Amino acid sequence: MTEIRKFSIPGFVKKRMGGPVSLPEVETDDLIRLVNLCKVYDTGAIKVVGLNNINLTIKKGEFVAIMGQSGSGKSTLMNILGCLDRPVLGHYYLDGIDISSLNQDQLSRIRNQKIGFVFQSFNLISRTPAVKNVELPMTYAHVPKKVRHERAIELLERVGLGQRTEHMPNEMSGGQRQRVAIARALANEPPLILADEPTGNLDTASSIEIMELFAKLHEEGATVVVVTHEEEIAAFTERIIRFRDGRIVSDRRNLKQRIPDAVPHSREGKEEETEECF
Ligand code: ADP
Ligand code: MG
Repeated sequence: MTEIRKFSIPGFVKKRMGGPVSLPEVETDDLIRLVNLCKVYDTGAIKVVGLNNINLTIKKGEFVAIMGQSGSGKSTLMNILGCLDRPVLGHYYLDGIDISSLNQDQLSRIRNQKIGFVFQSFNLISRTPAVKNVELPMTYAHVPKKVRHERAIELLERVGLGQRTEHMPNEMSGGQRQRVAIARALANEPPLILADEPTGNLDTASSIEIMELFAKLHEEGATVVVVTHEEEIAAFTERIIRFRDGRIVSDRRNLKQRIPDAVPHSREGKEEETEECF
């Protein structure tokens, strides 16, 4: 892994990015707060409950796994957390901002400023160099060309791809592609990283590398929320929230968190069987 360098987007660039959405923002340690949140899909003939009265707080700097069987509401939750969709009832506060009240323009600005997305299928532009892929969110945020290029290179170094900045994603392994996607997610210094099954298309060794990278970002202060159905992946996180039928059925601190550089396939990350709830 290359040396970690700290950097930040200069103030004048942030100003060009539009600054914070002009809504009252409450100073808080809670990055995510869901209050009586419900999502119902209206399919015409029937209404399908996606999320049923969710109350949940995630603090700045937490590393959280969202688990549950297919259809339990994980993607619905991620779409709401990622400001891609809005709840039908209840409130979602992101970094003190009441998301439920925003219009589409405000939502897309919030997405650009506050959230870095990592997807199962990487969602990179395949015949475009890694560095350009990482620059993309900064282009949308009107970061000047030179600043965004330098920052993209630094981000690729940070995820261990300093030697591959000009490689195309289709010349890279799955693990390397996901590293590019993580560098891209970090581009606008979002306070929240959302990863939906980020290891779903990776082999075991690459999955461990990617989770170790998230663990490192978490140690550096990032808030990371990962959806997974694999216990071995959730084992890297410090808190595991389980969903069933659109409800939270358990929310526990992972007291045996798997630390990076652990021996592959070890089972030391087994969740603590306590009733400690948040
Ligand atoms: P998961 O990601 O855990 O598999 P989802 O959030 O996709 O679960 O789905 C939760 C519930 O909402 C399921 O019953 C699913 O069928 C339903 N659902 C999800 N998306 C839609 C949609 N666009 N229209 C109708 N029902 C949906
Ligand atoms: Mg899903």
